[in-house]
Amino acid sequence: MIDHVGTLPKKYDAHIIEAETKKFWEEHNIYETVKKARSNARKFYFLDGPPFPSSDNPHIGTCWNKVLKDTVIRYKRSRGFNVRDQPGYDCHGLPIELAIEQKFGVKTKKEIEEVGLERFISACRDFAENNSKSMTNVFRELGVWMDWSKPYMTHDDEYIESDWWSLKHAWTNGLFEHGQRVVHWCPRCETVLSDYEVVLEYKILRDPSIYVKFPVQEKQNEFILIWTTTPWTLPSNVAVMVNPEFEYVRARSGDMIYVVAKERVKSLEEQTGTKFEVIESFPGTALEGVRYRSPLETVVPIQKTLKDAHRVVLSREYVTLEEGTGCVHSAPGHGEEDYEVGIHCNLPVLMLVDDQGRFLEGAGKYAGKPVKETNQQIIDDLRALGMLLHADEIEHRSPVCWRCRTPLLTRATDQWIIRVAQLKDRFIKEVDSTLWIPGWAGANQFKNWLQNLKDWVISRQRFWGTPLPVWMCGTCKTHTVIGSKNELIENSIDGEAEIASLHIPWVDLVKLRCKCGGEMKRIPDVMVGWYDSGAASYACLGHPKNKRDTQYWWPADFIVEGRDQISGWFFSLLKAGTVALDAIPYRTVLMHGFVLDDKGREMHKSHGNFVSSQEVVEKFGRVAFRYCVLQSTIWEDLKFSWDAVKQYSGDLDTFWNTFVFASTYMNLDEFSPTQWPPSKLGRSLRPEDRWLLSRTHRTISEVTKAMDDYKVHEAIRRIKSFLVDDLSHTYVRYIRRRTWVENQTRDKLSAYAVLYLALKSILIMLAQVTPFHTESIYQHMFRNAEPSSPETVHQLDWPVSNEKLIDDELESEMKVTQSLIATAALARGQKGLKQRQPVGKIIVATDSITARKAIKTYETLLAEQANTKSIRITKQSQAATFEDGANASRYAVAKFTEGTLYVDLRLTRDDLAEGLARDVVRRIQQMRKEMDLKVDSYVEAYLVTTQEGIKLLRSKRSYVAKEIRAKRLTLSTETPILGTGYYSKTWKIGEEKYEFGLRKISADN
Ligand SMILES: [Zn+2]
Ligand SMILES: [Zn+2]
Repeated sequence: MIDHVGTLPKKYDAHIIEAETKKFWEEHNIYETVKKARSNARKFYFLDGPPFPSSDNPHIGTCWNKVLKDTVIRYKRSRGFNVRDQPGYDCHGLPIELAIEQKFGVKTKKEIEEVGLERFISACRDFAENNSKSMTNVFRELGVWMDWSKPYMTHDDEYIESDWWSLKHAWTNGLFEHGQRVVHWCPRCETVLSDYEVVLEYKILRDPSIYVKFPVQEKQNEFILIWTTTPWTLPSNVAVMVNPEFEYVRARSGDMIYVVAKERVKSLEEQTGTKFEVIESFPGTALEGVRYRSPLETVVPIQKTLKDAHRVVLSREYVTLEEGTGCVHSAPGHGEEDYEVGIHCNLPVLMLVDDQGRFLEGAGKYAGKPVKETNQQIIDDLRALGMLLHADEIEHRSPVCWRCRTPLLTRATDQWIIRVAQLKDRFIKEVDSTLWIPGWAGANQFKNWLQNLKDWVISRQRFWGTPLPVWMCGTCKTHTVIGSKNELIENSIDGEAEIASLHIPWVDLVKLRCKCGGEMKRIPDVMVGWYDSGAASYACLGHPKNKRDTQYWWPADFIVEGRDQISGWFFSLLKAGTVALDAIPYRTVLMHGFVLDDKGREMHKSHGNFVSSQEVVEKFGRVAFRYCVLQSTIWEDLKFSWDAVKQYSGDLDTFWNTFVFASTYMNLDEFSPTQWPPSKLGRSLRPEDRWLLSRTHRTISEVTKAMDDYKVHEAIRRIKSFLVDDLSHTYVRYIRRRTWVENQTRDKLSAYAVLYLALKSILIMLAQVTPFHTESIYQHMFRNAEPSSPETVHQLDWPVSNEKLIDDELESEMKVTQSLIATAALARGQKGLKQRQPVGKIIVATDSITARKAIKTYETLLAEQANTKSIRITKQSQAATFEDGANASRYAVAKFTEGTLYVDLRLTRDDLAEGLARDVVRRIQQMRKEMDLKVDSYVEAYLVTTQEGIKLLRSKRSYVAKEIRAKRLTLSTETPILGTGYYSKTWKIGEEKYEFGLRKISADN
């Protein structure tokens, strides 16, 4: 057992390091170890929003989503939580059915049945399972530590049973029922679509735009004029809606009289080319109850049989003056608004269209024809009947099926519904009890979405889904809802002992006995996939079978998904969770953006701008992928660019180099952090050491806050600025000379002690974000440095910030000191004076108290870094004399925020000798690197230059020899004869040439 710091490979090779780390994790079951270590801790229930396994390669956005989740899970573990990390897949649904339809070369539901439902469903299951496996491999490659041994799959029988249980629960509570609803319908897929699916896809369609005359009963040549773009809904017309708040007129054109809204007359004249003469005006209320005859009653016989139809009804909400005539044709069977008004006014609901979008028998001469293709014939018939005033065409955005792009129809159908509309106020209140990040996602977007809450139509007329557990009696038409597989088996007529699968077609073999003695068969519908994923909060726990798990874990502490889930999963989770367990199923919601290309367009294979996570990993590594995407502000869209990945992977080199630097010297000195903690070095700590302690603890505190707030991007940016600005660019530079001292001085140990603490703290924080290279650094550098180190970096506890060590004053003084160091460099540069050339004096003219204090606090550091033998502080008012000197080129001068800095340019012979010595050392160090010497290897060296150069260097000979670790150093004006094995090189310093030769002394010398 070594108890000192180890060394790192010098070069950061992402691919080698990541492969080694992965192998180490797998061979030593590291994930299991880490998870087990926290199994008795406080619970943290992370609930995975299940991706849809419709392809074998997840979108890069899904990969971002997964590494974000992984980072939160790792963080919570490092904070000591027992994290539930089961991933999931949303396996049912139309896209998979369509993929299998293509595989079998079929298009309609009838053709699927011809293929055979067993074959079809098995193919769907295989497809979902195979894709899930491929996706899992991609996620694992990215270092996503979830329980991949048992993801929840929404098509598993156990999962389906949870769905069933919740529906039975809702049924018992009167929340699940059967009823008529006007829905969006895809005539190709022959199923209902959700409202939120309907907003996904639109197409510009060319449709008819016609003005139709509805003859007013018992009046000659008087008509209510309506406008429609869907002539195919006219056979289902039952009413006309007018607005009680508008003014209407009777207007004459030739022998005819038309009833229209007053404000529409003018635009009607323009649209139809008809002149109207207003003869009477009256409020809309006066039209209520006016009866008319259907213009198609002679060709659609069912129209004549309707009771209490064909009258004017009032609607404030759905009659506007933006288009049309102010009199709206109403077909409750084909419009949601029409339906609502129709039910309110006791109108019949007439629906004459079948599942495939063709007219039913009742539609008379149109029966059997696809409705949209019948438009022209209906127009022709209206014209022939004298019921058409004008026909035109219109282009408008129409919803199409998001899977097959067929234009959708609207029709009243029998569906199964969860009555959630009544829970609206409660849901809106629940949003306030949930932590939303960002806040506006909940307070605005989600609440706005909930304002339009309607009852949830969960039935779908498809095959690959959770079968609705509803059995109906063939005799008395009673329904019963089954809550589990056992219940089904117990009640089955044939006394089945087992059911092969709860899917169609196997589940449909089970028949039940009705109380009336009749036989009950399952209704054919399946459940919308959103119900499956919405049930995840309890279904993945196996509720209600594993009630204890629910009691322990539920509700979820944390969920995170993309912004499209406002109307998707966040919503369905809320509905299904509340209906089943009477409480909101999550406590914290984090919403992320989309991954777009660098121009802000969505990435698609068809757009040619698709980038997969694998491509990024192949080129730059897994760490680079994670580090890059996790920088992006979570709730904004991430615009992916290769340049950004390249730039970010540069940071990773800087990180690595910082650890390499520290580990190299600490290892050389066999530094033992347990023997030398900062607390033990008390008074030996320099101000810059205490500054680093302060920065370290402040960083821990800020990163912890960011992670507690789930602002991973803020955490990672903060970690980066600490590593790059505070460590790599500042502290590591400041301590270079201290680490080069050979003896174990307390001064050197102090630098090591604080640097070790800073690096270890930052390593643990970084490990949650980028787990691969941090593991490698840990194994090489840290694991053997302390006797009690755990097996993996991922078992280390998150660092704790010690607020007492955070020193505001020390930090603000350091800022001034850094600016003074930069100002001195700037002043030197302007006069062509090298940084390595020591000067006798620097004068700082300032009235700032902080600046004066800073110079006192960091005097040694400032003198070292500005390379001066002394620093003088003076008041601004005294600066005039130095200004004169500056004008006479005695001083190099530059300003900083709090004053002016003067560098004394008068150099003594000793200053010149020291400057030259440093120039020489720097070049020989360069040669040592070229020779690939270890930092502690000794050399023999010679140095050849002019007489004057040799003379100057002689006074600094021991300094040079020590710095370059030379056991022998020969200075001469001619190349000496010293034997072989020397590496030599000629350099130019100032105007003169210098030849240096180096030879390594072998270990036994
Ligand atoms: Zn479709
Ligand atoms: Zn019955």
